[in-house]
Amino acid sequence: MKMLLDGQWVDSDDKIKVLDPYDNSVVDTIPSATAADVETALAAATRGFEITKRMTVYERAQILSKAAGIIADRLEEFAVVIAREASKTINEARKETSRCINTLTCSAEEAKRILGETIPFDSFPGGEMRRGYYYRFPIGVVLAITPFNDPLNLVAHKLGPAIAAGNSVILKPATVTPLSAIKLVEALVEAGLPPEAIQLITGIGSVIGDPLVSDERVRMVSFTGGVEAGKHIASVAGIKKIGMELGSNSPVIVWQDADLDLAVESCVSGSFWAAGQNCIGVQRLLIHRDIYDEFKKRFVARTKQYKIGDKLKEDTDMGPMITETEAERVERWVNEAVEKGATLLTGGKREGALYEPTVLENVPPEATIHHEEVFGPTVNLYPIDELDKAIKEANSLPYGLLAAIFTNNVEVAFKAAYDLDCGGVMINDSTDYRLDSMPFGGVKYSGLGREGLKFSLQEMTEPKVICFNLPGI
Ligand code: NAD
Repeated sequence: MKMLLDGQWVDSDDKIKVLDPYDNSVVDTIPSATAADVETALAAATRGFEITKRMTVYERAQILSKAAGIIADRLEEFAVVIAREASKTINEARKETSRCINTLTCSAEEAKRILGETIPFDSFPGGEMRRGYYYRFPIGVVLAITPFNDPLNLVAHKLGPAIAAGNSVILKPATVTPLSAIKLVEALVEAGLPPEAIQLITGIGSVIGDPLVSDERVRMVSFTGGVEAGKHIASVAGIKKIGMELGSNSPVIVWQDADLDLAVESCVSGSFWAAGQNCIGVQRLLIHRDIYDEFKKRFVARTKQYKIGDKLKEDTDMGPMITETEAERVERWVNEAVEKGATLLTGGKREGALYEPTVLENVPPEATIHHEEVFGPTVNLYPIDELDKAIKEANSLPYGLLAAIFTNNVEVAFKAAYDLDCGGVMINDSTDYRLDSMPFGGVKYSGLGREGLKFSLQEMTEPKVICFNLPGI
């Protein structure tokens, strides 16, 4: 597939292979962009903004709605691309595609709700004759950098609101999963987006990243990815807006009165969705001691039923990790935890990029898998006795994206909701629940700012104050 630069679909001799992690077959190739391509993208995006900022709200919303319709008509085609280039099973890929349609549709709706307010300038002496208001204007060129694990919908979470706001965009999708992002850009152009409004550049993030991120023509970097790349981007960005959606190590508390069937089903899915490569995937399960053994028995039994393997088979529950190297890393972390005293309850075996759904208990705090983001199909179980201590434990790591609690006690739920230090608390769902229009983002190393269409639009626009001094009235 090709890049879209300055209105042209372009290729290059230097290509990167996109591999299916299940069998390492080549799905397609993408161009590896050069410094000259970076300059083309920056110059074209700057010109593109002159077009997008003059487009009416109606035009922007129409394009987004139309693109949503195009993707809906080709849902299966998009799902197969996701299921080939990424880790997701075909069923997970279909769900992501339908969420992408929703993300674009909500972006179109939110475009019509970019509101301002009148300002009471006469609320301080000297303002008597002044009348005014503010409105929100598009920020300019938005650089969108996206990760591999939701290769379509997380791209839509940046392109949808950026277009809705009237910005131009430079998109740099994940190097290992760029194909569904390219298809999304094709759908937007087919829906009427002026090609100058979007630059799609493919290549190695660590090579083309700095010249894009540091350039002054870029007014906002909207980044979703790991903490390390996030820290680097923040250090080179200079004076521009930065949105960061980073990693986590999500805690879920299962209180003694929880509905165990619901908690087990929801937490197994939340632990192993997309082979655990999920920023809101369940990593730490803090279970009340009174129900610990029963929960553990049911959780392990359900995990053992998981079918792993060919992503395109309808009955596969979990696919491979994104690369064999990543599966080897998870294997190392599990082995290290076991060497340090953890008990392996199920899983722990690797075949190529396939790593079994794995459950551990007795994980000591010094084990990497306890305190770092694992981003793989493993989960740790811990017994707890008191709510305060469980919340303290949940808050003890330098992440805070989503947290969750299973309980039927409204006071317990309320206390957890207020005291868990994170961007959102799910009650009677695992952390792996997200509505695309809710405010989404984290505290501490989990991020900066919020996505979720209305909230992304706030980040991608700025208020401009207009004040009339009218001494004649
Ligand atoms: P990553 O940080 O390796 O890469 C993310 C993107 O950044 C890719 O497009 C990559 O090419 C690019 N990149 C890498 N180095 C760069 C640099 N120096 N300059 C510019 N761009 C650079 O992350 P990943 O492995 O693709 O994704 C996994 C991570 O993403 C996990 O930590 C996960 O938690 C996080 N994530 C967060 C959210 C969220 O919404 N909070 C959602 C999904 C994934």
